[in-house]
Amino acid sequence: MNELMIDGQRLWRSLEGFAEIGATPRGGVCRIALTDADRRARDLFAELSKAAGCTVRVDQMGNIFARREGTDPSRPPILTGSHIDSQPTGGRFDGIYGVLAGLEVLRTLEETATHTAAPIEVAVWTNEEGSRFAPAMVASGVFAGAFTLDYGLSRTDPNGQTLGQALEDIGYAGTEVVGGRPLGAVIEAHIEQGPILEEEGRTIGVVTGAQGQRWYEIRLQGFEAHAGTTPMALRKDALVGAAEAVLAIEAIAAANNPLARGTVGVLKPTPNSRNTVPGEVFFTADLRHPDEDTLAGMDRALRGFMAGLSKRRNLEAVVEEIWHSPAIVFDGVCVDAVRRAAERRRFAHRDIVSGAGHDACYLARVAPTAMIFIPCKGGVSHNETESATPEDASAGAQILLDVMLELAA
Ligand SMILES: [Zn+2]
Repeated sequence: MNELMIDGQRLWRSLEGFAEIGATPRGGVCRIALTDADRRARDLFAELSKAAGCTVRVDQMGNIFARREGTDPSRPPILTGSHIDSQPTGGRFDGIYGVLAGLEVLRTLEETATHTAAPIEVAVWTNEEGSRFAPAMVASGVFAGAFTLDYGLSRTDPNGQTLGQALEDIGYAGTEVVGGRPLGAVIEAHIEQGPILEEEGRTIGVVTGAQGQRWYEIRLQGFEAHAGTTPMALRKDALVGAAEAVLAIEAIAAANNPLARGTVGVLKPTPNSRNTVPGEVFFTADLRHPDEDTLAGMDRALRGFMAGLSKRRNLEAVVEEIWHSPAIVFDGVCVDAVRRAAERRRFAHRDIVSGAGHDACYLARVAPTAMIFIPCKGGVSHNETESATPEDASAGAQILLDVMLELAA
């Protein structure tokens, strides 16, 4: 085991310093992608990385790469990093923790004059949250070839401004080609954004992958009718049908406990009038599971239920899958390196599947990838009260350093 230790207090000071950029009165941050707050945090990251002996480059999607050269020019870099942008009422750890844990790795290597064989890079990925420009993780997606550069730059915010123009405006429209270069491995550190680690009193989540997601838009067509004159037996009430569907989606998830998720987040009856039997309902469904076959079974269960419902209630049902993000299994060697590092440092740990999307999920398409989770208070994230402890933050950064040193040796 290497004896290099990260400086947990310095990391915590960095976290506190960045939390002031875009700070909200309730203790969170508002650092929406490509706003002035995002620019200021990017500038500070670039300045601190240079002070830690790195070169800093920016690509055409505004992704920033702080690089510390290795001793073997033939080796591709071992990369970490995450995102600086936040939700409008975001917390002070989501994203920025992974960036600053990476910065702490760079600083530790610099102050101990430690040289790795492979270069070490810390990336800041543009617009991870997708809050201003949909979709989320668009810039790591372009890097990994999931989207074209034109697609990425032409995303628009609610005011019609393009991501490309917003990059120009804050001075982060870089010149480097996006992606298309080899990475030795990618390790992203992040808060869990869920309750499992805290509940079990564990410090390190060894992230083995991310769950698959299927998103649906569903329309149930019945017949609008007078609420007073239409006998119950003669109705084609689309909303009562949708109510059954909402419960069925919950039951489909329950049948695949404990890893499945099923959510109806949008439901719009038409005409939405108190004394008209609803003739049509639009609703969404979101199904998730870490195992792709199980998720496919949930898809069949949903479609089967909707077909039966349609017959039974004499409604027309249209089920359209609008997005399918397959389950991701991270690289065995990288995952193993995280698990062994946690064991060596005697941190309580467990394997865990990410419930949220992360830049690492796209990067896993082009490089051996894994993630390190640390607990967050109450599992709360995307919230100004998001919180983590200095001890856990420090532990996660130490594991990151250990793993990167091993992979870069
Ligand atoms: Zn995040």
